[in-house]
Amino acid sequence: MQAIGIDIGGTKIAGGVVDENGVILAEERVPTDASDPQGIVDEVVAMIERLRAGHDVVAAGVAAPGFIDAQQSLVYYTPNISWRNEPLRRHLTERLDLAITIDNDANAAGWAEFRFGAGRDVSDMTVLTIGTGVGGAIVSQGRLFRGGFGAGAELGHLRVVPDGLPCGCGAHGCIEQYGSGRALLRMANEIADVGGIGLALAAARTRDGKLTGHTVGRLIAEHDPGALSALRQLGFWLGQACASLSAVLDPQIFVFGGGVAEAGELLLAPIREAYLTHLPARGYHPEPDFVIAQLVNDAGVVGAADLARVHATAR
Ligand SMILES: [Zn+2]
Repeated sequence: MQAIGIDIGGTKIAGGVVDENGVILAEERVPTDASDPQGIVDEVVAMIERLRAGHDVVAAGVAAPGFIDAQQSLVYYTPNISWRNEPLRRHLTERLDLAITIDNDANAAGWAEFRFGAGRDVSDMTVLTIGTGVGGAIVSQGRLFRGGFGAGAELGHLRVVPDGLPCGCGAHGCIEQYGSGRALLRMANEIADVGGIGLALAAARTRDGKLTGHTVGRLIAEHDPGALSALRQLGFWLGQACASLSAVLDPQIFVFGGGVAEAGELLLAPIREAYLTHLPARGYHPEPDFVIAQLVNDAGVVGAADLARVHATAR
């Protein structure tokens, strides 16, 4: 049973026909013009028409960044595309004779990881995506958690520091300011400023004019002590956030995705250490696994398709 998944990003729209084992049978992508919200709707319609030709699909799922309503039909808000209260499902079903569902992109990618990746053997999973910011997804008792209004699982805005650093969301002290790729760069710059273990970071900064995620990632892979120190700080904050999340959600597994998670065990070790130090009722709580995401590319496409297929066949 096949379904189409579409993942609308800030720079491209990716789409694919996906079977019930999460295998992509056909795929395409086009650049996004984020300034043209109507053009994006037109392109999604055209892409679904092209993909369904020659495939017997039961539904199409569309993943978009931002807040989606609990009925999976309305995009309240997207950060990059100027959609405000966009009735996306209606605009698509008016032009396509196909069941359509809309989901948040991080939730769709998390669902793919649950069904076909690191979470496939558990019922409860929490995903933290460590990219420029911090994204999240929650699966509880085998179901994707969306919240009562549909705006759930914004784990990046869990507060870890009272009156901490200002966040793009308007609040202060969110984990996104302490556990993201952007935070890693800030910490690496602070270590470079001090000298000592920061000498290699400082030298790279002088050579390139600034530190980039690529450079810090390379120094981490080379086990440079300054870069590793920055990564340990990041892990310290993420581990604390996981301890709080565990108290609420009790997942069997925490999955880390995004560019920073390429550090692998070097990131997971400090996360585990901080988690155990800060876990409420430590010693009486079964310890979850901390692992790296297995689906790197196209998780949004696969997850959106699978959610649409599950939704269509449940009716
Ligand atoms: Zn925030």
